[in-house]
Amino acid sequence: MIEVVRIPVLSDNYVWLVHEPDSGETMVVDPAVAEPVLAEAEQRGWRIGQIWNTHWHPDHTGGNQAIKDATGCTVTGPAAEAARIPTLDRQVAEGDVVRLGGIEAVVMEVPAHTAGHIAYHLPSQATAFVGDTLFAMGCGRLFEGSAEQMYANLQRLAALPPETVVYPAHEYTLSNGRFALTVDPDNQDLRARMVEVEAARAAGEPTVPTTIAAERATNPFIRASSAEAFARLRKGKDEFRG
Ligand code: ZN
Ligand code: FE
Repeated sequence: MIEVVRIPVLSDNYVWLVHEPDSGETMVVDPAVAEPVLAEAEQRGWRIGQIWNTHWHPDHTGGNQAIKDATGCTVTGPAAEAARIPTLDRQVAEGDVVRLGGIEAVVMEVPAHTAGHIAYHLPSQATAFVGDTLFAMGCGRLFEGSAEQMYANLQRLAALPPETVVYPAHEYTLSNGRFALTVDPDNQDLRARMVEVEAARAAGEPTVPTTIAAERATNPFIRASSAEAFARLRKGKDEFRG
């Protein structure tokens, strides 16, 4: 099984450092910055061989060049955003397989937050790295795509096995949950989850990763009954101050 280490950086980003013990290979998902990632790997005696990017935004790719310079690693990311990620070595698209040691990740195209956004699904590990597409009780903003696209992305992700552990790139859970309570106030799973989230955040603890099962139970964007309902929710969240 892979080992996944959470590295909090910037104001609310998480970089995921992933180690595969059988091969000894190590990979980083969406390094916003380089220094804390290199330090964490060094402290563990891990040598970073790969970076996997989900989309071009600087808070996901900002550390690429410095980590490449320090380690000679290769960078994999969305073919559709290659022009905006100059450090890319390998361009991937829907259905492509990326490997960490003997472990396979399948690329899912999930456009909407950005036009070429991808997620990495590791079926054998019941794990998915989803960047800024799915968050705990939330979803990414629609910067380069439509509500229809994002709704379809969320339905695809929700159809992964319920035990799948989902690694988003941000700690947005408290704000997402407060909004979710305004649109789904009678959802007992949501209310119970928010009690835990409030306590975790008050103690300065992280609230992700999450799971597909937890999101199906509490995420209003996944639970929306149609793309139209999803679009109304997304607009509501964009305007929400809570
Ligand atoms: Zn982003
Ligand atoms: Fe981001």
